[in-house]
Amino acid sequence: MKIITTIKEMQQEVKQLKNNQLSIGYVPTMGYLHEGHAALIDEARKNNDKVVISIFVNPLQFGPNEDFDAYPRDIDRDERIAKEHGVDFIFYPSVEEMYPRGLSVSLSVTDRTEVLCGKSRPGHFDGVVTVLTKLFHIIQPDRAYFGLKDAQQVAVVDGLITDYHFPLELIPIPTVREEDGLAKSSRNVRLTSSEREEAPQIYKTLLHAQELIKAGERDTISLVERLKEKLANSITGTIDYLEILSYPELRKLELAEGKVIIAVAVFYQKVRLIDNIILEVPRP
Ligand code: AMP
Repeated sequence: MKIITTIKEMQQEVKQLKNNQLSIGYVPTMGYLHEGHAALIDEARKNNDKVVISIFVNPLQFGPNEDFDAYPRDIDRDERIAKEHGVDFIFYPSVEEMYPRGLSVSLSVTDRTEVLCGKSRPGHFDGVVTVLTKLFHIIQPDRAYFGLKDAQQVAVVDGLITDYHFPLELIPIPTVREEDGLAKSSRNVRLTSSEREEAPQIYKTLLHAQELIKAGERDTISLVERLKEKLANSITGTIDYLEILSYPELRKLELAEGKVIIAVAVFYQKVRLIDNIILEVPRP
């Protein structure tokens, strides 16, 4: 496994892989790897000749009051996990390497950002598509792997790939959870012990939503109201959003029918957690 910190060297390696007609599976990450990242890497390992991951905490996708500085980082640990899972290259550039000067062309997401994290984190997805455009150009993957834990990101990146003809396949991977249901996240280490104890209530609420819908409840306004009340009563954190939308279009729905996402974000003292489930609800 090689760790590469410059764009030039990464491009040289990619050129060699292409010359040898080797396929590239790519997993973009912000590091502090866990089993969620490992699931993406394992899937990439299965279907590609070479696996590249990037570790880059992208300042562009963090708002001024968000946790860019406090985001957990541990390259030695990441290196070990990546090696265990058969990664061939870690692309690990500095912020200066990725953004040596201000950008003269900016990208902005125009659809699917009026809801969920797009609404509560203005500019976040512009930062995501900007860095991914750079990373896709540098790494030129055949397949790129993204977790459905960030389901809005999957939808937005699908738009980027389709609209701008990136010659790669997006592979969405189901959310990996702790035994108690909490979605694995690098940010979970920033929960206090009592917050960590109650955090599985977030997923429990999503499962409750699934039960209500299975039992025939369809009215999204009343569902959201009931679910918010249930969640608010079971946690000390503050609900940022809880929404039921069509997926992947992310349109508001009166009735939960067709492919729907139930997505939630919760603020704790030092961290904001997100989770979702996607359901196929039969139309009458
Ligand atoms: P991050 O390092 O948080 O930016 O995540 C890198 C990639 O891993 C993204 O595509 C995430 O959606 C994915 N990911 C993060 N957590 C999980 C999880 N618990 N299960 C599956 N994928 C995940």
